Amino acid sequence: MKSKFHIIPIVWMTAILGISYGNALSSIRWESGKGVFLFHIEAENSIQFDSVDKIREEGCFILDIHKIEKIYENRTLAPGDLRLKKVVVQSRPWEEVIRFQFFPGSGVHWKIIPSPDLMSLRVEFHAISEVTASSNIKSNSSHAPSRFTPPASAESRPEAPLFLSSRKLIVIDPGHGGFNKGARTAYTIKGKHYWEKDLVMQYALKLKYLVDQSPNLSAVMTREKDVYVSLGDRVNFAQKHKGDLFFSIHLNASPNPGSKTARGIEIFHWRDAGTDNAAIRYLEKLENDQLLPELPKSDNVELKSILASMLKDALEEQETKSARFCHVLWDVMSRNPYFKKYHRTPVVKNARFVVLANYAMPSLLVEVGFLSNKEEANYLISDTFQWTSAKLFYNGIQSYFEQEDPNFKAHYIK
Ligand SMILES: [Zn+2]
Repeated sequence: MKSKFHIIPIVWMTAILGISYGNALSSIRWESGKGVFLFHIEAENSIQFDSVDKIREEGCFILDIHKIEKIYENRTLAPGDLRLKKVVVQSRPWEEVIRFQFFPGSGVHWKIIPSPDLMSLRVEFHAISEVTASSNIKSNSSHAPSRFTPPASAESRPEAPLFLSSRKLIVIDPGHGGFNKGARTAYTIKGKHYWEKDLVMQYALKLKYLVDQSPNLSAVMTREKDVYVSLGDRVNFAQKHKGDLFFSIHLNASPNPGSKTARGIEIFHWRDAGTDNAAIRYLEKLENDQLLPELPKSDNVELKSILASMLKDALEEQETKSARFCHVLWDVMSRNPYFKKYHRTPVVKNARFVVLANYAMPSLLVEVGFLSNKEEANYLISDTFQWTSAKLFYNGIQSYFEQEDPNFKAHYIK
């Protein structure tokens, strides 16, 4: 049998976000044969997997390999064979899964065959005409026509869109950066202090990771490195990119370091009327850079001119939407036992944070918890907790758009 053999080096599977342990993949390769197309997945330890047929809904079937704690860079593989159009490979670290979405060609049967030692899986793809020749093969089939389409005509046929819902652009804003370090842990943990600017970046990257995997959202970040970006520039950036939502991530600290009572999540939206609450006014000062004399004062001047202009009406409209977004997010987050327990009452509040004064899109600022609280700080720095939070942020965003836009098909993470 004349066959084309293809091996992909595992080099592309760069571990990101600095996590690496447990079972891992050792190779992915495929073979184009005359009677069958084979896709092989090999791992370092025995493989646990399951598969779901989503041909009708999404044009693919899903193969999940479990207990894969390593995070791989996501990839779309195009083997260049009509029996397998493409494979989307996606790490799902929140459930320790690496997911393969196989998009078979029209009229193609497939089956998944584990090796006896379970160290590898072979996925076979047969065109139906090939299957009927050897009728003893029992397998699944895609819904498409029952005849294998010849190469030339199949190649010229445009692919149907996989998802019909429109993509929303999320502007993720990791607070602070550069010389502006934000809040700090009140106690050392593992011999060091943690700064808000570094931690919020970890939350932001995780949220971005999840958004990038989704079929209906995309994301940009106001900063991707440890650099200072002024508050006005963050708003301008969001408007320039025509974001659908602005999501600012912060961590709080009490003016009394080590305070046990200052703890829990708070979610803020803009309200022009401002607030009488002293604690919030303290936080506004912290988040609005007013304690940093070396900053240009233009932010607030600009803000005042915006408010004075005709844009004020637009801002008021966003105020309502932003408040709704905050409540939807809390509704999702409060189902998590941690956040249910550690919340400030009320959770949803308003404040005059400069980054929230955005007339172009609903905007919120979440203070995930208090770094000044010893018990809470241990959670806030943990990778697992950050993934849980990012997943809730993500589901909150999905829920908001589902309620806001009838054309939006939500896509939740379990
Ligand atoms: Zn902050």
